[in-house]
Amino acid sequence: MKQLPPDTVRLLSSSQVITSVANVVKELMENSLDAGASGIDVKLENYGLDRIEVRDNGHGIKAADTPVMAMRHFTSKICSHEDLERLETYGFRGEALGSICAVAEVAVTTKTEEDEISTQYTLNFTGEIVSQKPSHLGQGTTVSVLKLFRNLPVRRQYYSSTKKCKEELKKVQDLLMAYAIIKPELRLMLVHNKVVVWQKAKVADHRSALLATLGPSAVANLLSCHHHQEQPEIFLDGFFPKPGADYSSTSSSSPDKTFIFINNRPVHHKDIMKLLRQHYTAQYPDDQGRNRYPNLMLKITVTPSSVDVNLTPDKTQVLLHNKEAVLTSVEALLVSLYGYQPSSDPSAEKE
Ligand code: ADP
Ligand code: MG
Repeated sequence: MKQLPPDTVRLLSSSQVITSVANVVKELMENSLDAGASGIDVKLENYGLDRIEVRDNGHGIKAADTPVMAMRHFTSKICSHEDLERLETYGFRGEALGSICAVAEVAVTTKTEEDEISTQYTLNFTGEIVSQKPSHLGQGTTVSVLKLFRNLPVRRQYYSSTKKCKEELKKVQDLLMAYAIIKPELRLMLVHNKVVVWQKAKVADHRSALLATLGPSAVANLLSCHHHQEQPEIFLDGFFPKPGADYSSTSSSSPDKTFIFINNRPVHHKDIMKLLRQHYTAQYPDDQGRNRYPNLMLKITVTPSSVDVNLTPDKTQVLLHNKEAVLTSVEALLVSLYGYQPSSDPSAEKE
C-alpha cells in the first residue's frame, strides 16, 4: 500500500468541494456577501467553463492576508469549532478558494479602504501567489476563474454538453435570485458572453425583491405570513400564495421557485418542501394527487447552535437539531393559511 501524492489528494478533495459552475459562483458570491458587499456582478464566458468572474464592492482582503487567502483551512471567519455555534457568515471552512485553485486557473484582484490601488494576484494549483501586479479596479474583490476542470477531463466533458450548459446557467440564475430575495438591499447582475441575462437593483424589502424575481402577477397573489414559537425559538417569515391563488407549477422539473432559507442560507430541505407542497396541493383536489410547486418564500430563523451546515461540501443541505419543532411550526403556519389538516385526510401520505 502507498500513500497518495499530495497533489492527487488535493485534486481529489477539491473536486468534491467544487463540483460545478453554479457551485463556484455560490462560493464566490458567499465570500462577497461575507465581505459586506452591496453589489455583486457575475460574468460568465462559455457558460462559465472558460471564465467565471465574480466582482464585489466589499471590504477587500488586507495585503497581509493575501499570501494565505487560498491556503487550505485559512479563514478570517472563525477561530475554532466553537464559533460554529454562533456562525453568522456563509463561509467558515477556508476551503473554497484553495479548492478552486486546484481545479482551475485563478486570479484575485482586491483593494481595501486603506489601499491606494488594487492589486491582482495570480495563484497556482496549491493556492500560492505566483505573481502580482497593480490593477485599476476600485474597492472590493474580483475573483476570476479560468478553464474550470481543465485537469478533470471527464467532468469538463460532462458539463460541456449543450443541455448541461443551459441547466448550469439556469442554476446560476436561480442562485442569484435566491440571494436577491433574501438580501433585498443587494444589487446583482448576471452576464453571459457579454449579454446581461438578469439583473436586480437594490430594493427596500423582501416583497420588492420577490417582484424583481418572480414578476408582478405572482407577487400580487402573495401574502406576507409570520409565525413565532418559543422553546425552541423559531421564527418563520414568508410570502405564500393566497388561498386559491394558482401561482404554481405542476411540473416537477421546475420546482425551483420555492425559496427556502434557514438562517439566511438558501437550502434544499426535502421535508419542508414536501410539507409546503402537500398543504398547497390540498387546495386542488381535482389534481388527482399531482403535486403542485408553489412560488413562495419561507425564511426560517433558529439559533445558530441548532443548525449543522457542515453536512455536505456545498453546504446546501443542513441538519436541524429541532427538525420536528420546525416542521410543526411550518405546518401550523400552513394550516392557518390553507386550512388543510393532514390528520383528518385518510389519503394524506405519511412517511
Ligand atoms: P471561507 O469563506 O470559508 O473563509 P474561502 O476559501 O472561501 O474560505 O476564503 C478564504 C478567505 O479569503 C476568507 O476567509 C476571506 O478572508 C478571504 N476572501 C475570500 N473572498 C473574499 C472576498 N470576496 N472579499 C473579501 N475577502 C475574501
Ligand atoms: Mg468562502
